[in-house]
Formats: sequence, structure tokens, C-alpha cells
Amino acid sequence: MYDTNTTLVSQTTLPKFSQIAIDQVENAINEILSDNRKQLQHLLSTQHYSWNNLLYPLEALDDRLHQYWSLINHLHSVADNEALRNAYSTCLPLISEYSIEIGQNTALFEAVESIAKSEDFKQLTTAQQKAITNALRDFQLSGVHLPDDKKKIFKKLTRELSSLSNQFQQNTLDATQGWIKHISDEEQLAGLPEHARALAADTAKQRGFDRWLITLEPPSYLAIMQYADNRELREEVYTAQCTRASDQGPNAGKWDNSQIMIDIMEKRQQIAAMLNYQNFAELSLVPKMAESTTHVMSFLNELRDAGYKKAQQEAEELKTFAADQLGITDFQPWDVGYASEKLRQQLFDFSQEELRPYFPEPQVLNGLFNITQQLYGIKIKQRTDVDTWHPDVKFFELYDESGTLRGQCYFDLYARLNKRGGAWMDDCRGRRKLDGATQTPIAFVNCNFSPPIGEEPSLFTHEEVLTVFHEFGHALQHLLTTVDVADVAGISGVAWDAVELPSQFFENWCWQADAIPLIAKHYKTGEALPDNLLQKMRSAKNFQSAIFMMRQLEFALFDFRLHSEFDKEKPNQIQTILDEVRQDVCVLPIVPFNRFQNGFSHIFGGGYSAGYYSYKWAEVLSSDAFSKFEEEGIFNADTGRQFLHNILEKGGSEDAMDLFVKFRGRKPTIDALLRHEGIKP
Ligand code: ZN
Repeated sequence: MYDTNTTLVSQTTLPKFSQIAIDQVENAINEILSDNRKQLQHLLSTQHYSWNNLLYPLEALDDRLHQYWSLINHLHSVADNEALRNAYSTCLPLISEYSIEIGQNTALFEAVESIAKSEDFKQLTTAQQKAITNALRDFQLSGVHLPDDKKKIFKKLTRELSSLSNQFQQNTLDATQGWIKHISDEEQLAGLPEHARALAADTAKQRGFDRWLITLEPPSYLAIMQYADNRELREEVYTAQCTRASDQGPNAGKWDNSQIMIDIMEKRQQIAAMLNYQNFAELSLVPKMAESTTHVMSFLNELRDAGYKKAQQEAEELKTFAADQLGITDFQPWDVGYASEKLRQQLFDFSQEELRPYFPEPQVLNGLFNITQQLYGIKIKQRTDVDTWHPDVKFFELYDESGTLRGQCYFDLYARLNKRGGAWMDDCRGRRKLDGATQTPIAFVNCNFSPPIGEEPSLFTHEEVLTVFHEFGHALQHLLTTVDVADVAGISGVAWDAVELPSQFFENWCWQADAIPLIAKHYKTGEALPDNLLQKMRSAKNFQSAIFMMRQLEFALFDFRLHSEFDKEKPNQIQTILDEVRQDVCVLPIVPFNRFQNGFSHIFGGGYSAGYYSYKWAEVLSSDAFSKFEEEGIFNADTGRQFLHNILEKGGSEDAMDLFVKFRGRKPTIDALLRHEGIKP
């Protein structure tokens, strides 16, 4: 009954990207969803529910939807066009409607609960049990227990929230694009490096202006803040940026997000109250690794106390430098980036560009795969006979020591038109048990690096090398899993605040004197990275690290306190909480018209609400995990295998804290992170 489009999904062969018919996507999704609904009905018509007669067949239904949608989602990110974008935005609400429906399906919930309560439950594997416990939790968080009229309200709130978040994002985007500064006097651009001038000229041309155009897009904004000698220009651009979508600044009142933020907070608190949680922060922690709201707050405050003094010293050093060397005596927010860049240049005179010749892509990938083999015994082989979405895409297979294929991975490394920015890893297919066989996982690793030019390979900066290690670290967790239950295999079911552990963890090797020779070799001469460059690179790593940590803590504390304390009866609460947090952690000047919160998309537009702390949380985990390698040898195969068996292979099948303790022998502490960042010895 399936058209050619849905049969592209297979458990044993690779996806056929070249055969995906975009005009069929909507039909295919509708077909899968309606068949899933029909089959679910049928599955629920039995008497005694078990893993085999309910949950395993359900897994197969989910997997078919997931495998098909992951291809469309991926193409939408890396090879977008109008038809695809239309198909994508038509299907997205269909899929979210379906998942709310599943989450609130009382009959299904009761069936799963009956399995959890049955004698059979004890016979199930740890992974199966964890998948069931997670499912019951997710039903609860979707409001399955609510009476029908409340279920409707819950659904309505969920929909309203997603539309409010969307409006928040749209306003932020419009406000960002709605401010420009035309420059015709070249003197205004004094201090800007060539690439920033070229960007400004290019932007002007694209938008029908002559000479130069400054915008609030990060590359343009950051270049002005870091390099522009003209202090008034910096002040003007800073003011426009930090008042976006607010009641302040040059576009005051236009695209103002203030009321939307209050509405979002109100609805989040309503949802939390409906599910009997004291506040949204408490609700958001349910599926996370952190135990309680007090746990998160004391974690953030512990880091604050550990780093605050150092941050103050760094700020003092910066202010003194600005006064002595730059003649800036009334230090302002628009001087921070500029003075920091000048100080950085004085302390460590090198640029990321100088490193590029030492990090040609083939050498970096070689080193990456070599380290993976030393630590985990995994051999990686390239295959060139696979169907992909672009000729630049590379494909690799991962084999373990017994020669078994464990997973496969697409690398799409270069920037391209119609590809979304940044770097990310995505799940193409997850591991699960088939009839007498195993469905092996597949991952997508995506970056936006400069492509090779002519005969020369693509040359990476060290930051880009870190990015490849980071994304491949995610991929290894997805690909090396030995769990056979799809919902908790690989990256599935891993607690949100533990997801960045394997990725940040793997970055550590890029800083080690013993690992650098594996990934760095001059692409022409073959010579190793010179010692003095390595030294400069390593000491520059922790430049202003405490200031940076305080900034992250400002965002995390504001986010978490807001979602714990929000009370719609109190006026001006968002600003008040932010002001209080700043009193506690800010070491740099602030101006009263700053409305940073009105463009804080992570928490009002995206999924980081009451979760911004996760960045620091995962850094603590990854630093502490790596410190075991520092103690036992960074290429110690036993330590590597322990990380493989306790973390990477287990995915979401056990509690994240339990797994960490199994690997590390104790709970995480912040010491290693503070040492790695040069904050404490
Ligand atoms: Zn990541």
C-alpha cells in the first residue's frame, strides 16, 4: 500500500537520497500517520498487553515514521528549496498533532502501565524497563491524567505556547534585520580588518546600497564591537543590538517582545500547575539529570563563588588596559569587545588563520579516526559507492574489534547555499532489534567549513577542528550503542542536561601535546605544528575564561530563577530578576536601557527554558570524565573501553548519573572544569 516514497525507508539498506520525491512528502506522511493510527487501534484491541504484542510493534511504527521524517528533516537543513520548505512546514504540525495525540491517549497509557505492573516486567531487560518508565513519565508530562476538558485546555496551551515562541523568534529576527547603518565615509571603518570591510561592502551591494552597510547579524555586529576604532559607532551599534525587540533604542516599541515574554511565562506556569508542579522549572527537571531546583541553584552558585574573584581580576585588568593603553577612562559596555581584542592581541599574537595550513582535512580526519581506534578499538573505513544528497558528502563505516559493523556516518563538512549554518549531528536511523538481526544506527555529521579550493584540501582553523571532534563525539554515542530498544538506544532518551557530555568530552584531545601530532601536519611541507604556536594556542584558550563563565552564569541563573519564581501578579518581574542576577555575577559595566532578555531566543523561542544551565552542567561532566584520562593516560585503552562500555554504549538505557558514577567511580565535581579553564589550580 505504500508509494515509492515511503518504501525508501528500509531496515537494512541505506537511504536513497536521489530518489526522494518532494512532491510526495505530504502524501507519504499522511499515509504513515493514518496507518499508524489504524495499527495502534488494532494493537490496543488485545486483552493482555506485553512487550512483544504492544511495545515492540509500536517501536516498529515509530521507527518507520522517524526514519522517513529524519531524511526530510535532514534535506530541509542541508539542501533546502522552496518545494521542500513547503512540504516541511505542512508536515510539521501534522506530526506534532500526532505526537500530542499519542501522549494523551489514555487507553495506550493504561496498556503500558499494565505492562509496568505485570509480573513480566521484571523479566524485561534494563533497557526495556527504562523505555517503559520513560514512556509513563512522558504520558504524565503530556497531561494523560487530566479529565477530558482539561486535556483540551492543555492541548490549547501547548499550541498557544508554540505560536508565542514563534512570534518571539519572528520579532527578534525582524528587529535584527530591521536596523541597518549605511556608511559612506571610509574613515568610519578604521580598525576593521579586510574580511569585515569586504563583508560590509558585500552586504551593501546585496541590499542595493553603495559603499558599506553595517547590520546586526552576528558577523557584522561582532566585527564592529571587536575592531571599530570609532567609539561612537560602537556605541550606536551596541545600543541597537541590545535593545532589539523592546521598548528601548532606535526602534523602540516596534516588534516589542515584552508582552509576549509575559504571556509565555504565564502559560508555562499554567501548564506546570495543571500537572501539579510548583513551577515550570520543577516540571522541566523531571526528565533531566539534575535532581531538583535547589540542586541546580546550588550548582550554579557554587560555580559563581568559585569564579567570581578571578572574573573581577580579569575585568580590572581589562579596565586598566583600556585606560592606560587606549585612553578610555569611563569604560562602557561598547568598549568591552574592543579592548578585549586589543589586549588579546598584545598577550598572544597569533590568529586562527595562521593555524589553517597545519590542519588539512585529510590529516584531521585521520587523527580523529586514529584516536577513536586507540580509545575504543573502532576501525573506520570510507565507502565511496553510496547515494548522497551532494557530491561533497563523505560516508564512513565503523567496525569493532570483532569485525562487526556497528554504525555508519555521513560527513557533510562544507558551507553551501541552501544549507543551514553552524554545526550539528543528527540521528538518521537508530539501533533496534529486528527479527533475528540488528538494525545498525546511522548518523549525519554536518559542518559549515570552507570547501577545498582547486587542488588544495580544505584547511581548518583549530576552532573548526574542535567542532569536528565535538560533532563526532555526539555521533559516537549514537553509533556505538549496544542497546536494542530504539527509545533508549544511542542518543535517544539521554537526559537533556547530559547530551553534551560525549561531545565536549571528545574536544579535549584537540588540546593535548601528545594528540596534536596525529591531527596536525603542514599540508605542503608535512612539518608538525611548531611548539611556539601550540603554546600560544593553549595559553590563549583561557583568556578571560572567568568573565566568560560569569556571562554564562548570568544567562543560566536568570533563566532558572525566572522559571522558578515567575508570578504574574508581580509587576516588571522579568527585568527585576535579571537585575538581581546581574548584581550577583556581573563584573562588567551595564547600561539601564539594555534589554538583552527581549532577544533571548534560547529560553523564549527555543527548547532551553529552565535548561540553559545544561551548558555548564555538561561541561562539568565532560571535564571530570576527561580528568580520569589525565590521571590514567590520554590514550589509555582500558580507560577508553570503560568510557565506551559505561557511557557511549549505554545511551539512554540507564540513569545518566548512575552511568557517570560507574565510569568515574564517584559523582562529578567542578574541580576539573575550574582547572581546565585556568580558574583554580
Ligand atoms: Zn553538541
